[in-house]
Amino acid sequence: MFAALLIIFDILIIAASFYFWYESIREKEKRAPMTGMAGAISGLVLLVLIILIPGFRIYIAVIFCFTAGFGLLCLIPCKQNQRALKGSFGFITGKPKKIDERDIVFARNRCLIPGSDIYKRYYRAHPEKEEADAKRRSMGTHALGKPGSIDNCYRPNNSMVMAGFQFPMYLAKHAKPEFGAHPAPDSASKLIDPRKGSEIIKGFAKLLGASLVGICKVNSLWSYSHRGEIFFENWEDWGKELDASLPWAVVIATEMDHELVGAGPHTPAIVESGHKYAKGAYITTILAHWFSAMGFKAVADHHRHYTKLMVPLAVDAGLGELGRQGYLIAKKYGPRVRLFAVTTDMPLVPDQPIDMGAEDFCKRCLKCAEACPSKSIPTGEKTNINGIKRWKLNEESCFKYWAKIGTDCSICMGICPFSRPDTLLHRIVKLIIARSHLARLFFPYIDNIIYGKKWHTKPVSSWIDYKNQYGIKNEI
Ligand code: SF4
Ligand code: SF4
Repeated sequence: MFAALLIIFDILIIAASFYFWYESIREKEKRAPMTGMAGAISGLVLLVLIILIPGFRIYIAVIFCFTAGFGLLCLIPCKQNQRALKGSFGFITGKPKKIDERDIVFARNRCLIPGSDIYKRYYRAHPEKEEADAKRRSMGTHALGKPGSIDNCYRPNNSMVMAGFQFPMYLAKHAKPEFGAHPAPDSASKLIDPRKGSEIIKGFAKLLGASLVGICKVNSLWSYSHRGEIFFENWEDWGKELDASLPWAVVIATEMDHELVGAGPHTPAIVESGHKYAKGAYITTILAHWFSAMGFKAVADHHRHYTKLMVPLAVDAGLGELGRQGYLIAKKYGPRVRLFAVTTDMPLVPDQPIDMGAEDFCKRCLKCAEACPSKSIPTGEKTNINGIKRWKLNEESCFKYWAKIGTDCSICMGICPFSRPDTLLHRIVKLIIARSHLARLFFPYIDNIIYGKKWHTKPVSSWIDYKNQYGIKNEI
């Protein structure tokens, strides 16, 4: 009986190890399949020992008891992180000032054209930024410097990037449907029940391709104070105060493809960014026009028409938690998402912020910070800047690195343990982290042992392989 129990437990370990090995191969991991195989081989050795050498059984039973005991302890539910459950209010410590879009690195690089009137006005007010910005601009006014330079500007991929990023531009002019532009609504549409309205908009967003949808009340703190990004010659808008009066936000996340993100910092990763930005523009523009046709005001927030910071909105809408690298760690997909929103005055029912255990995990993990080639992610404690306590990404040095390689890098997105595919294996692990204090304490270290801490760019399918084996001419 004793031996039979040991054999059953051992067979379970062998099966779990093989399953882990198989999933890790599919995920193109480098070290994890070896760990899985080592687990399976150890299990097989133990099986032989259990069967052939009865004297070893007691020692093996002790090892199994420790393993099972640790597993059981990880099932004890912990006290929830109250800070996480407060959503974005949880990281406000003072009286933050709204962010001015004119100060964002992208806006400064793209829109402050040397010699122009706004260039002079801006640097008169911010002389400390002029020299560093000029240096960055000398690497290219494109956000990516010389696009695709890390892959010798491989033309098929570069063209996919251009095509994807161009699409939101076409829709930007339609991000704010003219109120009353659609057939006049009858009064009944105004009386729609908030619960029903929320159900409809979430269903419609999913139909259009959203991976996650949540609703929150808009905290105006997360709206940009002034317009700083100009995309279609609407220069008269630069510096205009932005209206943040619409009270509800439908926040949308689109999942980025695991294989393509895994190729970061090479071009497939940014091809996928462009693709998902295009998809987000498509989804939010249609949703904004749906609200308008229903007789309500609405504004689409997407890649060429952001009016707000997406991460705090997504946290408030219950899509995930703020991570060390400053991205949203979304449920199911981790930081492997792009975020969008539609704000409206249609009354809706808000979702609640969630505690996934990400904050506790980030305290000990540090993978993104250590793998970041530009050292832009802090390895230490959170800092209190502008009345907001968080791990503060250095956007300036990150952006400079993008110009060096000609892509949006994505290493911090790809390496995060929460980014792994939404399979049964990772769903179970995430569920345990969400519930267990012990898991939040130990899993970051276990993860480092199993998967390693270094970033390894993963291979991609041949259609998007950037190695240019056919000698395609790359000028673009
Ligand atoms: S890689 Fe680790 S530290 Fe970085 S965001 Fe993900 S869990 Fe947090
Ligand atoms: S995108 Fe790359 S450079 Fe920027 S923070 Fe992430 S890992 Fe660092």
